[in-house]
Amino acid sequence: MSERTEESILRVEGLKKYYDTSSGFIDSLLGRGRSVKAVDDVDLELREGETLGVVGESGCGKTTLGRSILRLIKPTDGTVYYRDEELTAVSNVRLRRLKKDLQYIFQDPFASLNPRLTVGDIIGEPLDVHDLADGEERTERIGELLETVGLNASHTRRYPHEFSGGQRQRIGIARALAVDPEVIVCDEPVSALDVSVQAQILNLLEDLQDEFGLSYIFIAHDLSVVEHISDRVAVMYLGEIAEVGTTEEVFSPPHHPYTEALLSAIPEPDPLWEDEQITLPGTVPSPIDPPSGCRFHTRCPRIIQPDDYELTQAEWRSIVDLKLQTGDAESVGSLATTEEESVELSSLTRDRLDELIRSEYSLPRRVSDEQAEEVLSSAIDRLHAGEIADANERLDSAFVSPCERRPPDQYRTGDAHRIACFLYEEENDEHDSAGRADAVVED
Ligand code: SF4
Repeated sequence: MSERTEESILRVEGLKKYYDTSSGFIDSLLGRGRSVKAVDDVDLELREGETLGVVGESGCGKTTLGRSILRLIKPTDGTVYYRDEELTAVSNVRLRRLKKDLQYIFQDPFASLNPRLTVGDIIGEPLDVHDLADGEERTERIGELLETVGLNASHTRRYPHEFSGGQRQRIGIARALAVDPEVIVCDEPVSALDVSVQAQILNLLEDLQDEFGLSYIFIAHDLSVVEHISDRVAVMYLGEIAEVGTTEEVFSPPHHPYTEALLSAIPEPDPLWEDEQITLPGTVPSPIDPPSGCRFHTRCPRIIQPDDYELTQAEWRSIVDLKLQTGDAESVGSLATTEEESVELSSLTRDRLDELIRSEYSLPRRVSDEQAEEVLSSAIDRLHAGEIADANERLDSAFVSPCERRPPDQYRTGDAHRIACFLYEEENDEHDSAGRADAVVED
């Protein structure tokens, strides 16, 4: 049986992976290239014998993180320690040796197996690379590995296309196990599989962990999958860690607002379940130019409003949405929709435009704060005059959330629990308890 210990087997400090988008020398020379910040300053720890779930929507940088940790791709900055050895600094020769201990299971069992090789050769390849077995011993080991993952030793001569998705993932697992590793990064290993097969693969991974004392980093976009298998969970958003803690801590309040939205999306079998699903607007923003301050502020339902206003949380969120949209919009027409076909929004009366904008952003006829209403109304005046930039400037200077100004630190909210959100900064907690409670969902 495996033993979970408090000892780190992997330690990740300040890990960054940026991609350069310049298309050539001229772009670089003119400073036109921009960086895609796929992973940005990530600290994590994997303890011996545990499973650390890493979860987030697609585009959050989970796969890049997994690959950078094992140096399948070269990190831009930061350090990764495997036990006491700095993985990010070892020579290529040493890295090749260490890769015996550090394996990766790929997301797509259909694409990750070479279709021209037999199953025996696929599993035997790492044995050959690390010079671990040959001849009869190699054949025996391959048969043994196939049986360990629930397949049959007689499958050795078959090709990947002869197997189902679940069986192919088992072959991928057997290949990773061939070298007797200590750590396996499992990159969405069940997301391409049917639900019934997912459970079998998760159970297999758990059994193998117990039998061989493996430590896993388990990447998934679905929180319900990581709950089943993880001891601890890290929630990732746009290249950063939003929340990390034991599985119990992450699944119980308090939550990072992003985690809260992911949790609300898990279907509940109970028909009497009454909690509302939180639908986040839009998709994950581009990592080329991530939002300022807290990167989640462009979508966060609990974004903090400045002290100057007493708006409801829904009004505040809607005003920020309008502000962000006017920053990107090329025409007033793109800010709202009208059923009156072929009618230009700019040709409508001021009152009609006001009505359409408020309906589009779920704003009442007058927002609950007089001062905020004045700014909003004057911004709609400017939109009616066709002056989008001017409208945006008014909204932008009057409505600035503390969440936009600087990135939050990770605040401690439990023994192993950290949440990167100002709602959990001591000052904010005091502030909230002094009467701004509607910005905070009661946990
Ligand atoms: S810091 Fe602000 S925007 Fe970011 S998650 Fe917390 S409340 Fe939302």
